[in-house]
Amino acid sequence: MTIPPWFKLPISVKKKPQKVAVIGGGIAGNTLAYHLNRSGVQVSLFEKKEALAKGASGNPAAIFEPKLMRGGTPLGQYLTSSYLYALKFYADLEKETGESIWHHRGGTLNIIADEKDLIRHQSFQDNAELLKDHYSIADPNQASTFAGVSITQSAMWYPKGGCINTASLARALTKHIDIRLDNDISSIEELGQGCNSSCRLYFSDGSASIDFDAVVMANAFAVRKFEQSNFLPVVMNRGQVSTHHRVSNSDDLKCVVSGAGYLTPLIENKHVFGATFERLHSFEEAEDSSLTDDRHEHNLSFLREVLPEFEGKFSLAELKGRTSVRGTTVDRLPLVGPLHNHADYVANYRLLKNGAKHRKWDDASYYHGLYVLAGLGSRGFVTAPLMAQYLGALMTGTALPISDAVLQAVHPARFVIRDLKRGIKTTTVDP
Ligand SMILES: Cc1cc2nc3c(=O)[nH]c(=O)nc-3n(C[C@H](O)[C@H](O)[C@H](O)COP(=O)(O)OP(=O)(O)OC[C@H]3O[C@@H](n4cnc5c(N)ncnc54)[C@H](O)[C@@H]3O)c2cc1C
Repeated sequence: MTIPPWFKLPISVKKKPQKVAVIGGGIAGNTLAYHLNRSGVQVSLFEKKEALAKGASGNPAAIFEPKLMRGGTPLGQYLTSSYLYALKFYADLEKETGESIWHHRGGTLNIIADEKDLIRHQSFQDNAELLKDHYSIADPNQASTFAGVSITQSAMWYPKGGCINTASLARALTKHIDIRLDNDISSIEELGQGCNSSCRLYFSDGSASIDFDAVVMANAFAVRKFEQSNFLPVVMNRGQVSTHHRVSNSDDLKCVVSGAGYLTPLIENKHVFGATFERLHSFEEAEDSSLTDDRHEHNLSFLREVLPEFEGKFSLAELKGRTSVRGTTVDRLPLVGPLHNHADYVANYRLLKNGAKHRKWDDASYYHGLYVLAGLGSRGFVTAPLMAQYLGALMTGTALPISDAVLQAVHPARFVIRDLKRGIKTTTVDP
C-alpha cells in the first residue's frame, strides 16, 4: 500500500531519542513508558494526580475481550491485532514482573441482543480475522453453564477474556520508570530546529522541566489543552460504574457477562457493573467526579434485562461506584503518531478538495519531538499495549508492528485530511 505524503512519517524519527517525557499516567502513558524503557530510552512519566491510573484507567476492573468485526477493514484489523498482541503482552508482563494483573481469567460472555445481532455474529464466523479458538456462539444453555447463573439469551463466548486489575497493571508496567506524581503540565515549548531540537515542559506552578528529546502527550482528552494539539478531535465521555457488595447468589457467577453493560464476578467481595456514557462539553464538567443515582439506575437497567436475579437483590441505597471520563473519537480509532502542524496541513493540502492525483504535494509537516497517544475510547486496556508498542517503535526507529492501513487509520492528521478532501472547514470540537 502506498502511503500518501500527508501520512508519511517524518525522517527525523529515525534518530533514537535519549530522554523522553510522557505526559499522563493512565494505561496509554504507562504502556508507552514501559515500551520506551525496554528500548533503552530514559523515560520520565508525568502525572498530575497523586497516583497513577486515577483517570479513566483507574476503574476497579477493566473488561478484556475481543470485538468481532467484519474482516478486512482497518478498524477490524486494529481491534483484532490489538487484542492478540495484548493477550501475549500481559502474559509476558506477569512472568517478567511477578505481578498478577487479572481479577478474573477464563472467559467472558457477551450477550447477543436479538436475531439480527445473532445473524451478524454468525456471518463473522466465516470472515472474522480472529481464529475460532478465541470465540464461539453459545446458546442460552451453554451460556448459563459458562456463567454459572441463568442466561436466557444466546451469547458470544470469549474463552480467553477476563477482567483486569487496573492498579496491579499500572504497578507492573512502571516498575522501572521515573514517575513524577502531582505534576500538572500546563504547556510544552519546542526549542531549536530539526534534529537538534528539544522540548521543555512547564508546570502549573510556573516552573520548568529539564529539556527532553521528545514529549508524548498521553493525557487522553486533555491533549486539547496544549496549544500545539488543541485542534485534535478527542471528545469527552463520562462514565459511571456501580459496585454492590456480595448478595446471596454472588459466588455462582463465574465470568464477566457483558452486552449493553456488564457485571463482573466478585472482586474483593463486590460486583462491578456499568457503565454509563454521557458526552461532556467543557473541561469544567470533566472535573466533576460525583456519583448520581440516575446513573446507578441506568446501570441497574442492564442487569434488569440480562441478569434480573442480581438486579432484584441489588439495592440502590447500597450502591457505590466511580466516575471518570473517556477520551473518544468519532471513528472509534485512537490518535497515535507524530503530532502534525495543523496550520501547515491546512495551507499545504487545501487543494485536496479538487482530488489527490496529478499534483506534487509537500511532505507532511510535524512538530519535532512531539507525539500523541490519545483517544483510546472504551477499550483502552485491549488496545493500548499494541498502540504503545507502535509509537515506541516509531520513536526509536525499529520495525513497526502494524500494517500501513492501520498506521493511516490511527494517524492524528486523518481528520484534517478528511475535511480538506471534503472541502469543508476543518473539524474543531467544543470547547
Ligand atoms: C466508566 C468507564 C468504564 C470503562 N471500562 C473499560 C473496560 O472495561 N475495558 C477497557 O478496555 N476499557 C474501559 N474503559 C476505557 C478505558 O478506561 C480507557 O480507554 C483508558 O483508560 C484510556 O487510557 P488513557 O491513559 O488514555 O486515559 P486516562 O486513564 O484518563 O489517563 C490520562 C492521564 O493523564 C493525566 N493528565 C491529564 N492532563 C495532564 C497534564 N496536563 N499533566 C499531567 N497529567 C495529566 C490524567 O490525570 C490521567 O491520569 C472504560 C472507561 C470508562 C470511563
